[in-house]
Amino acid sequence: MRMRAYRKRWLWLPNSDLEEWARDLPHRAASRVAVRFLPTGKDRDSIVAIEIGAGARRVAVLGQVHAEELNGGVLARNLVERLIEPGALPEGLTVCVYPRVNPTGHRLGIRRNGLVVKPPGDHFAGFTTERDPENPTMFDAWGQNPTNPADVGFNLTACWSRDSAPETVAVRQDLDAFMPHFAFDLHGARLDKPVASDGDQTLLGLIWLTSSSEKSRLERAIVKNSDVATRADKLRRLSELSIPPQHIVEHSQRMAASIAESVPREIAAFPRSIFTGLGPYLAASGIPSLIIELGYGTETPVTTEVPRAAWLEPTLTQIARGTIEEIDPRQALDISVLRYPILPHRPMSAMDRARMAGARHSR
Ligand SMILES: [Zn+2]
Repeated sequence: MRMRAYRKRWLWLPNSDLEEWARDLPHRAASRVAVRFLPTGKDRDSIVAIEIGAGARRVAVLGQVHAEELNGGVLARNLVERLIEPGALPEGLTVCVYPRVNPTGHRLGIRRNGLVVKPPGDHFAGFTTERDPENPTMFDAWGQNPTNPADVGFNLTACWSRDSAPETVAVRQDLDAFMPHFAFDLHGARLDKPVASDGDQTLLGLIWLTSSSEKSRLERAIVKNSDVATRADKLRRLSELSIPPQHIVEHSQRMAASIAESVPREIAAFPRSIFTGLGPYLAASGIPSLIIELGYGTETPVTTEVPRAAWLEPTLTQIARGTIEEIDPRQALDISVLRYPILPHRPMSAMDRARMAGARHSR
């Protein structure tokens, strides 16, 4: 089977191999699979979108918005591998997986998208965790990482309501056509956390929309931070939404509660300050969403534990069957707060990459 060729370097999979893997999926899938390659411009890598199934309930899963957060992309790919197996896709569901939203950043081995074009006005108030310490009310969308000067370009979490980064524009347009009812945004986080002796290293960190007032605040911020060209359209779309804010809040809470209930491992609510990027953009746009931070506590840039599709499957089944509606949203309030400090991301070294390439893939 061709799949075998990728297994040994499943973590650090080059873009060309990712595309080849995706192209092959329809030939070996038990369910309907449509693969799209979203262009992001000259000399830039395409974003792979894999749509599985043809059910009425639609779920989007996005990985590697930050290119060096490899484990989110691995979870996305493992989910695809699982869902194409006979009988694995829950009836009534369509899942669209974008395993690597930032492919050019991945090729360059950086966090940002590597677009070395400084836009007019490089600072704006927006969503990103990478604040300018001199000016905490302003956020840095485009820039260079001082600890790794090669890490240049846009931080895609800051670009979902802007047209600055071709990656977010491409994915936004694809999502607009796909119209998901729910979305998962997969990230990775380094934690100051001891490694468990049983080999279960990954802590699932969850972040979700908590109140209607937060949604209104996000809507205002998104409109404010949209490019002039997209602002009118954004205003129109937000005003056209007939979905009550409470629905978005409760369904986002249900997603978190469902994961917490069905995944037998350490789960924690991440700090609200990093409710940034795609999750808030989707929540404010009327789509219940959950940010999942795959937290690892090792010296390596990603955990050596391979993220399992089984972490998302029970929740997808509940979405497909509609039983997610039966979950009491208040259960999300019982999820304990993260008790480990979050460490800064470390630039990936040549040795890290070699380790990733040699890492074994198993499920
Ligand atoms: Zn991230």
